Amino acid sequence: MTVRVRFAPSPTGKPHVGNIRTAIFNWLYARHRGGKFILRIEDTDRERYSPEALKNLLETLRWLKLDWDEGPEVGGEYGPYFQSERLDIYHRYAQELVDNGYAYYCTCSKERLDRIRKEAEAKGLPPRYDRHCRELGIKGNPTDTDKVIRFKIPLEGTTTFHDEIRGDIRFENKSLDDFVILKSDGFPTYHFANIVDDHLMKVTDVMRAEEWIPSTGKHILMYRAFGWEPPRFCHLPIILGADRSKLSKRHGAVDVLEYRNMGILPEALLNFLTLIGWSPGTEQEIFSTEELIRLFDKDGINPASGVFNLDKLVWMNSEYIHKMDDEKLLEKLTPLIHQRGWSGFSREYLIHIVSLMKTRMRLLNDFVELAPYFFEEPTQYDEKGVRKHFKKEGAKKRLNLILRAFDRLGNFNEETTEKAIRALAEETGTAAKFFIHPTRLAVTGMTFGPGLFEILATLGKQKSISRIKRAVEFIEKNCEIC
Ligand code: GLU
Repeated sequence: MTVRVRFAPSPTGKPHVGNIRTAIFNWLYARHRGGKFILRIEDTDRERYSPEALKNLLETLRWLKLDWDEGPEVGGEYGPYFQSERLDIYHRYAQELVDNGYAYYCTCSKERLDRIRKEAEAKGLPPRYDRHCRELGIKGNPTDTDKVIRFKIPLEGTTTFHDEIRGDIRFENKSLDDFVILKSDGFPTYHFANIVDDHLMKVTDVMRAEEWIPSTGKHILMYRAFGWEPPRFCHLPIILGADRSKLSKRHGAVDVLEYRNMGILPEALLNFLTLIGWSPGTEQEIFSTEELIRLFDKDGINPASGVFNLDKLVWMNSEYIHKMDDEKLLEKLTPLIHQRGWSGFSREYLIHIVSLMKTRMRLLNDFVELAPYFFEEPTQYDEKGVRKHFKKEGAKKRLNLILRAFDRLGNFNEETTEKAIRALAEETGTAAKFFIHPTRLAVTGMTFGPGLFEILATLGKQKSISRIKRAVEFIEKNCEIC
């Protein structure tokens, strides 16, 4: 039977890494098995619905290239399924349960429900509906706004389901509440819409967060009431922060798109999140998405919670960047370059800068943070650098010597600039570093980066000379001893 899985987010808040890891596992499993991946937006909680969250979610899935296979067609593309567009279906099935004696209309007022909840609390009991309307045989219509429909939980017995990575899980029916399946606003609750859709969409495998384990008993009872075969269940371990507490803002970004803004590559994030809670059984850590599709299966899922380690994500990202070919990396960097307003540079020049910077980058944004001087004149000098390299006796004199030597160079390239500086060091009996460091600071404003002679050759004679002249002026203005 073809595998059919779904990712069923509720657009109530921005998707966090835990939600997206669920999406990734489902997507990889579908691709591995040659099955279908369905995206279903569970937007039945109208009070908590957020259009912003939905937008963010779709953008995240597209960024990670987690494509879905079916859904109503919108503008030549598959839109996701939206539960809010399927209310008629839920009404029909809710009424079917009522007609067959598995559910009932309830007219209890909010005040009454509040009162019994408070009474239960006062007695230290779990807040539970007292089944007041269960046997009243109230007639109604799913669209009635003065009623809800509740599921009739069997009063005795147990309900068991098999979790593929955790084994059998059992519930005492007594512990379950006669929960609402259809609300008075005509919207179904999560539990009901979820199982109706999993059935109608022929979902074979449910992989979702372990927080849903306590709800699965209710789901199984509804499958039975309908006489439907439930899917296979696999509840995924939660993701913890590095200190093993629940992942939250203080462990770094939890909103996935923030990683994009930080300069993390989607393929690196996908690789990283897949390894939280899944292992291929080898030591290998860097995988292409194709490899993950080939290797991913349920037997590699670990029921123990996984840890989100930001340093590891950054390390993985740098591995991806270092291996990426220059052309592809430039393509990824182009939006950042435009954002900075750097324009008018030839493709050849840009590729050259990419090749110089690639091994020094861990995040995409490092490119613009670490190498602005290839695109614009430095407007200030690193403070510590100024103290160490400019405010030093003889610094100005040495820069002037360099200016004179560079001026005389016909060919201004890596070899000739290096030769010129080494010759000056020799002539003056000074270590070459006393020429190299202030020159680097003069042309880049920074104290680190690619080799100085590569930088000089890249900037060319004119820019290098004018930047060194500016540094000399700066020294004259700001430093008495030199
Ligand atoms: N809408 C639920 C959520 O946001 C789906 C849970 C499930 O996959 O059944 O987590």
